[in-house]
Amino acid sequence: TKRLAARVSTLSPSTTLAITAKAKEMKESGIDVIGLGAGEPDYNTPENILEAAYASMKEGKTKYTPSGGLPALKDAVIQKLERDQGLVYSRKEIMIGIGAKHVLYTLFQVILDPGDEVIIPTPYWVSYPEQVKLAGGVPVHVEGTAAAQFKVTAEQIREAITAKTKAVIINSPGNPTGMVYSKEELQQIAAVCQEKDIWIISDEIYEKLLYGGAKHVSIAQLSEDAKLRTLIINGVSKSHSMTGWRIGYIAGDAEVVSAMTDLASHSTSNPTTTSQYAALEAYNGPQDAVEMMRQAFESRLEQIYPKLSAIPGFKVIKPQGAFYLLPEVSEAVAKTGYANVDEFAAALLTEAKVAVIPGSGFGSPDTIRLSYATSIELLEEAVQRIHTFVEKNW
Ligand code: PLP
Repeated sequence: TKRLAARVSTLSPSTTLAITAKAKEMKESGIDVIGLGAGEPDYNTPENILEAAYASMKEGKTKYTPSGGLPALKDAVIQKLERDQGLVYSRKEIMIGIGAKHVLYTLFQVILDPGDEVIIPTPYWVSYPEQVKLAGGVPVHVEGTAAAQFKVTAEQIREAITAKTKAVIINSPGNPTGMVYSKEELQQIAAVCQEKDIWIISDEIYEKLLYGGAKHVSIAQLSEDAKLRTLIINGVSKSHSMTGWRIGYIAGDAEVVSAMTDLASHSTSNPTTTSQYAALEAYNGPQDAVEMMRQAFESRLEQIYPKLSAIPGFKVIKPQGAFYLLPEVSEAVAKTGYANVDEFAAALLTEAKVAVIPGSGFGSPDTIRLSYATSIELLEEAVQRIHTFVEKNW
């Protein structure tokens, strides 16, 4: 008999998590591997947040909360959106979930019918297409080329829209690209989405990580129509170095949020109570740690970017946000004699002892992704190892 559902037959584990796990395994067996795979800040969660979480537990706040999250945390998110984006939402338009990832998963479950299409620009975050497929939807990719700074245009989105298109995903600042869409670019995209009447899913998880004076604009800020059709996804993972706490949120249409909350009431009950109290402090407490981490990432980027660019066969666009570099390495792959970027990345791990993520998992088969959310000493050593590896095998 068939043991598994068809739904999971094409499901593959997250490439990012798989490589990170392999690097960790090598490290544990005593091999000196430098991991540049992980998508999380290397700092611990700020002290005030840890204290607030502990205090809440001591006060007995260890029970179920409403499925859509603590009203106080929804209010904190509402205040954050007003403070940072000038956007006004009510509690009915907010749901707290188990990380931005699971909020997105729940969102696709409530907006997609079988065969509905979701436009996903490449290079994309690995989980978008899998989550769309798990909801019965069809991912439709629109190519953001290196020549276009890994961004897509409103015109490309228009061309990809069919009668079945339900939504487009905009992720700015982007993973794995590090690119930031300008206000003008977003205005053009919003206009197409209004004309064609589709949802805009705006994943703003890297909002606080911007460099070189880049500014974050939420597409929801651009017009009343854009606000009504945009579903903002965000959370504390990257901004407050809280990846393990698993708190994210959605802000947008009350009917969508209500359906998501009903689904959560049967699937998760609620996000972990202690984590919600921690997130409450993250949004309501001092924000200086957020800026301290941003500055640290920017300083690493400034130091490491020229060295990465100097590796033969690597073409690197300087990112404006997040904490990833996405060099285009097709020449280096060819000249070192590897068949493709997957084999090149595998050799970097086993021979150069550096873990990077092959772009094939991001719909970008000529690139590799390196995270610079690690110490500058390790970054310098890792880039040196890659450089030596490429030169030796050229
Ligand atoms: N969206 C993007 C683009 C991400 O890179 C990530 C994490 O890697 C997430 C969402 C998920 O974040 P969370 O930890 O809140 O689930």
